Amino acid sequence: MIARVTLDRAVGQDFDYLVPENLKGAVEVGTRVEVPLGSQRLLGLVTGILARSPHPKLRELIGVVGRQSLITPKILDLVRWLADYYCCSLELALKSAVPQAVLKKPENWRKKLFVRGLNPPSSETELTNRQRELWQAIRDRGASALSEILTELATSASTLRRMEETGWVAIAPQIEERDPFADEIVLPTSKLRLNPEQQNVLDRVIVAFDDLEREGHAFLLHGVTGSGKTEIYLQAIAHCLSRGKGAIVLVPEISLTPQTVERFKARFSDGEGNTEIAVLHSHLSTGERHDEWHKIRQGRARIVIGARSAIFAPVDPLGLVIVDEEHDSSYKQEETPRYHARDLAVLRAKREKAIAILGSATPSLESYRNVELRKYILLNLPNRVDSCTLPLVRIVDMRLEARGEKGIPIFSRRLKEAISLRLEAREQVMLLINRRGYASSLQCLQCGYVVECPHCSVSLTYHRRDERLLCHICGHLEPPPNVCPQPECGDPGIRYRGVGTQRVEETLGKLFPKARVKRMDSDVLKRKEDYRRILDQFRQGKIDILLGTQMIAKGLHFPNVTLVGIVYADLSLHIPDFRAGERTFQLLTQVAGRAGRGEVEGEVFVQSFTPFHPAIQYARQHDYLGFYEQELEQRQEFGYPPFNRLCALTLRAQDQDLARLTADHVATTVRQRLGDLPDLNVLGPAPAVLLRAETFYRYQIVLRTGRMPVLARRIKRLAKELELPEGVRLTIDVDPVHL
Ligand code: ADP
Ligand code: ZN
Repeated sequence: MIARVTLDRAVGQDFDYLVPENLKGAVEVGTRVEVPLGSQRLLGLVTGILARSPHPKLRELIGVVGRQSLITPKILDLVRWLADYYCCSLELALKSAVPQAVLKKPENWRKKLFVRGLNPPSSETELTNRQRELWQAIRDRGASALSEILTELATSASTLRRMEETGWVAIAPQIEERDPFADEIVLPTSKLRLNPEQQNVLDRVIVAFDDLEREGHAFLLHGVTGSGKTEIYLQAIAHCLSRGKGAIVLVPEISLTPQTVERFKARFSDGEGNTEIAVLHSHLSTGERHDEWHKIRQGRARIVIGARSAIFAPVDPLGLVIVDEEHDSSYKQEETPRYHARDLAVLRAKREKAIAILGSATPSLESYRNVELRKYILLNLPNRVDSCTLPLVRIVDMRLEARGEKGIPIFSRRLKEAISLRLEAREQVMLLINRRGYASSLQCLQCGYVVECPHCSVSLTYHRRDERLLCHICGHLEPPPNVCPQPECGDPGIRYRGVGTQRVEETLGKLFPKARVKRMDSDVLKRKEDYRRILDQFRQGKIDILLGTQMIAKGLHFPNVTLVGIVYADLSLHIPDFRAGERTFQLLTQVAGRAGRGEVEGEVFVQSFTPFHPAIQYARQHDYLGFYEQELEQRQEFGYPPFNRLCALTLRAQDQDLARLTADHVATTVRQRLGDLPDLNVLGPAPAVLLRAETFYRYQIVLRTGRMPVLARRIKRLAKELELPEGVRLTIDVDPVHL
């Protein structure tokens, strides 16, 4: 018996080892093993069991680590596919699939001392009355943590030890699971009665679920905000469980809020703290992550909610994969392996004969196009559940507001008035500005100099609270200058430009001194409880105006919010990326969906300098299809996705010439070597939009093709053979979401 092992260290190669006789029963695909390599001992995962190996002289495995295999053959297949399609090594792909918390310490259980009452020993040792009472109380409770017994039964450790010696109780270490939600009380909810539209959608999912010979397996659920998509997810999951299968629910990291998780917990717990749900996200401690993962692996939690990496959760058998807010760009990992969790979700569902539901109010162009190509089945929820109307969206032309003013005001007159009316009515307001900090740059009025980061090609953002200039790319900090730092200028007339959340907060304080204003952006949210605390305060009506970056845009449901203002709608439009229009449309629609989710009709103000941009106009009409049609036309004209697929090759080096010349060389090589691929277009190289980041200059080559799997295979091979000069790094991004 031979085990093929993928090492933790990225060496781009697997190694074969003989399995010694005494370990034969303990080694299977997914087993964590220790192996010799040269004179070292390394850890790895068994990724294959073979009868013979092409290598003549094999060494033996040293040992097995942990008892449970850490990856199932099905997930391993998915990971292999990922490594090929996204052009990375199997080692790196595996790192994403199995959490570090599990790889590093497969048996990282927290042990605690537990006390159990035993049957009275035969050699009756007499107990005092007090001890007998205590023993009875311990018996009644069942096994309980020593610490609990000590406090709740008001006794001492030495008393318990004496009772242990005489055989009345047993004290032993036991595993105690860390529960990230231990201190929460969740009130169970039951199924809501679906409206006819929802019922129709659910029926179609259920029919497909039960039909294993089905034609399609992926649904795109296009439902406006508040149309009751989540209720459908909940009932589809209930059906899935009733058929003995498990479910994975992916949500964007940012909306993996307690509010979201609670809704699922409330439906699938018994009210006594027992639940079938495991949660995976980046705020868990290593220990919590370890325990949640094993709960899934052992089949004790059949529902998994998590951000993108939860797509690798070892749910088996899998019946359903839900991707909420499927258009969200956080499903794409921005470091190697650069996989897209939504696409993996569809693939995994297909391979495991499960159903995939992708839900959104603003589906990505790729997904909606897949409906037209008959790869996905469309389900529609065009109305809000409670027949609440969608909020009225007003566009404010800021060019008119700026006229005759000294500089550009942050708030238009109309938005100001609207805010004061809502405050008087004791309703709540949300304001979005997608830029943190106080001012986006510091500029000299005399010579035009802008203070830039010494390591990146961006201006530094001014943060007022700690009187610092900060780089949002690399985190570089410096004190703001009092005069222009240009030696030949030195003018004191240096001014802040561009508005960020802190500046808006300050202005609100001046305009509405009585209002309770709270800012929410990544500068405020330093700890994991902060997000929750602010949202709780907002829900309890302790905040009048919640102001923030896009993190306030998603998934939140506050019935008393009747006014939403978008301070600068143009910020996301002017990013030089072909998806800028799509992102702006999505963002505006999402934020607008936060208004009017209760009794009072909602109202949205969008302040813009380009009020006639299609992304803004279609968002105003809540017209997804209109936006889709015109955007699709543009994409077709330029050959962009969804008509083609892209692959971005980025070369980075600290020396600008070296980066540029290497990029030239790589582009030439690609043109020569892949010239036989008929539909391949090689664009560039060109300087990346952000030319310099964290001291590295970046040049980009963009490949365009109709058949990515073929290209990916060739690129992966080519990349291995490329000999890059020292100091130059190449990254390959298949289906990039940011260009
Ligand atoms: P979405 O996920 O599409 O934004 P939600 O599922 O959050 O919509 O639904 C919006 C609100 O309507 C929630 O408060 C939800 O509990 C409620 N709701 C959903 N379906 C129904 C229903 N059939 N009957 C009554 N209320 C419902
Ligand atoms: Zn920087």
